[in-house]
Amino acid sequence: MTDEKVTAYIKKCLDEGRMAEAIDTAKVTGAPLSNEELNVYIRKYLDNGWMQKAIDGSKAAGIELPKDVLIKYVNKYLEDEKIYSAVDASRIVGMPLPREKIAFIGKECLRKGKISSGLEAYKIIKEKLPEEELIICGNMCFKDGRLSDGLEAYKLANKALPADELMICGNMCFNKGQITPGLEAYKLANKTPTKEILRTCGEACLLEKRTDDARKAFVAAQKVEEAKTLDVREISYEELKNSSSLKGFGQKHCSDCENRINIKERYFEVSKCPETKEDEEKLDNLMKTQYGVLHFCVEMDILGSGKGLINCAVCGNCGSQNVVLSSGDDAGYMEIKIRKTD
Ligand SMILES: [Zn+2]
Repeated sequence: MTDEKVTAYIKKCLDEGRMAEAIDTAKVTGAPLSNEELNVYIRKYLDNGWMQKAIDGSKAAGIELPKDVLIKYVNKYLEDEKIYSAVDASRIVGMPLPREKIAFIGKECLRKGKISSGLEAYKIIKEKLPEEELIICGNMCFKDGRLSDGLEAYKLANKALPADELMICGNMCFNKGQITPGLEAYKLANKTPTKEILRTCGEACLLEKRTDDARKAFVAAQKVEEAKTLDVREISYEELKNSSSLKGFGQKHCSDCENRINIKERYFEVSKCPETKEDEEKLDNLMKTQYGVLHFCVEMDILGSGKGLINCAVCGNCGSQNVVLSSGDDAGYMEIKIRKTD
């Protein structure tokens, strides 16, 4: 082995906690390995929670590792909520852990949403998991977008899943580009995510070059869009003013009597903007049968969430609906069709 390879090998042994092997290799090859360096590694093992490796290493290195230092570490693991390490270390040191302390830490872990440490603590003391803390834990997990942890907490608490928290979890997942748990969370909540958040998710996936996940997200967004039903609701001028930034509606005049004043307008919110010929026909039919409106125009995406605004006008003079709705530039009307009345 070259010197470089020897050094790399020794470092690898030390990093993995195999100190005796590192020391032997150094001895055989004559590579330098100082006590200071070994001491740093022993501390590192202790900090990592590897007490047995620290003890074995210190024996091989001939470095003393006093028991009171080890006991300090047992307590430190407990404080740091490293339950596994604390239990392991307490067994090595021969210092039993106080039950109340473990119960307290287990509860704390659950309250912080650290489900695996919490469960481990309760397993050690063989106590029933507290229902209230499990719910807190589950909700914390959902808030962080950790669906499976949240589900586990609720399952252990034997409680019905909360739809609102599931949706929060789903949204967190989508924002992080995690399409699969996001969709699952919504499915469990029996709700449908918005197409916008699904697209956000797809874009997050694309950024990380996860094209399959991105495709899954965009397909889901498309399905939401398609599933949306076309429905129309009449709204007042006040409601319109409150829910949009529209200021004016442009000039209008009646084609039948040339009247320009006294034109009565009606406003409708449409759940989605017509994109296909079928949508347009459906909308025409709906406006005619439900509201008796034959002549209208649609402004796209003005009311948020893809909702459009329908505007129609009736001449106050002759009662004709054949009012020309000019596309005022500031209002930006998209006139999909103007039909002549028979
Ligand atoms: Zn008229």
